[in-house]
Amino acid sequence: MTIAICPGSFDPVTNGHIDIFERASKMFDEVIVGVFNNINKKPLFTVEERVALLKQATAHIPNVKVDCFAGLLADYAHQKNAHVIVRGLRDANDFLYEFPRAMLIKNMAPDIENIFLTTDNKYYHVSSSAIRELAQFGGNITHLVPHCVELAIHEKIKRVPTSK
Ligand code: ADP
Repeated sequence: MTIAICPGSFDPVTNGHIDIFERASKMFDEVIVGVFNNINKKPLFTVEERVALLKQATAHIPNVKVDCFAGLLADYAHQKNAHVIVRGLRDANDFLYEFPRAMLIKNMAPDIENIFLTTDNKYYHVSSSAIRELAQFGGNITHLVPHCVELAIHEKIKRVPTSK
């Protein structure tokens, strides 16, 4: 049984991420979406909120589980008995960011393979930060995020207004 991890902040999860999970789910027996709890970042959604949104947004993919972790990704992968880490690539900038991290993991944990899936054309321009910004300024995010995320982000922005 091959277990893969799709790690990330997912603040919030977008349709670009969902596309990667769906494709990974066809390649591996089990896919764990691991929400990274980065104590150095101030996210829009708490880890608990991100996990809850991911659970709703991936409910249609039977072999996907959602979890969260802190600390080293290689340690987390070993703890979950996962030997594959899957990441999505949109462009060369993603590659330049991801490649050294993959090398670090390979050095620490040679039993783990790092796999990159190229984005679908439709989601090339979609990022969590762009979604947060679009939502804040009243842009339409309907086709870019799962419905539950669209509702949650509008609710969140109403409660936490941006400073002018
Ligand atoms: P980070 O881990 O840097 O906080 P994210 O949580 O936004 O990044 O994304 C998690 C993973 O999903 C990363 O591997 C990222 O490159 C990938 N990803 C993000 N947006 C897309 C997209 N639109 N298409 C494909 N992959 C994506």
